[in-house]
Amino acid sequence: MEYALQTINVSKVYDSDGSAIRAVDDVSIEVARGEFVALVGPSGSGKTTLLAMLAGLLRPTSGTILIDGKDLGKMSDAQRTAFRKQKIGFTFQSNNLVPYLTAQENVELMLRLNGRLDGAGKERARELLDRLGLGERLNSLPRKLSGGQQQRVAIARALIHDPAVVLADEPTASLDTERAFQVVESFSEIIREQNRAGIMVTHDLRMVRYTDRVIQMRDGRVERIVSDPAEIEAIATVGHMDALTMPLFAAAPQPVLTVA
Ligand code: ADP
Ligand code: MG
Repeated sequence: MEYALQTINVSKVYDSDGSAIRAVDDVSIEVARGEFVALVGPSGSGKTTLLAMLAGLLRPTSGTILIDGKDLGKMSDAQRTAFRKQKIGFTFQSNNLVPYLTAQENVELMLRLNGRLDGAGKERARELLDRLGLGERLNSLPRKLSGGQQQRVAIARALIHDPAVVLADEPTASLDTERAFQVVESFSEIIREQNRAGIMVTHDLRMVRYTDRVIQMRDGRVERIVSDPAEIEAIATVGHMDALTMPLFAAAPQPVLTVA
């Protein structure tokens, strides 16, 4: 099977004043189309560094990254930039919207840059923004939108150009709880319907209930991967990666598990 995204023994070592920081350490993961994966772990565990490498924005020190079966490391910088514009959508913590373009124009920009903006593309931009709850704000400039609304525009922008892989770093960081649930739920639905591979970094474990798999990182390494739906639900409910071994669940797991 060919994965939308695959890393093989990927590491990133930063040189910081002569001492080496192993930010990502021998990570091998796979994500198929239609799968939505949460990347979690303490601050400094390497999540953003891994995401930046998956986005083709940062070169690994060693290892291989395949997107739709293509090896990013075998491309020239120009090839990788062109490939990224087609195949990869991402939203980072700072959303980088263009301040003088409206919400809709910011989303359409990805198509414009690829020379693919037409009537159908404009309609898709409207639909995506509408699904993310911004149907009334299509013509607003970023500074007229709340932080959360800006983040949702950035999510729409990450999806508009039909990418194989969608990467989101803390997409709910500036949202209130109810809005965060709505946004991640819509994001997960869109990823599955449109058959993309999605990875979301989140520090909010309640959000993992919308994902198919939880990858936990620590000190640059993959510490644990959870893919059992009942266990994911327990993590989301308890807000702790060791949810199933906690007394509440260890004592009487059955009723709780059947709810999921
Ligand atoms: P996370 O997103 O999980 O908080 P990061 O990927 O941002 O983790 O950071 C992982 C480790 O790499 C941390 O120890 C961080 O200080 C270090 N790091 C990140 N970016 C750089 C950089 N540009 N130069 C040197 N060290 C960095
Ligand atoms: Mg980070």
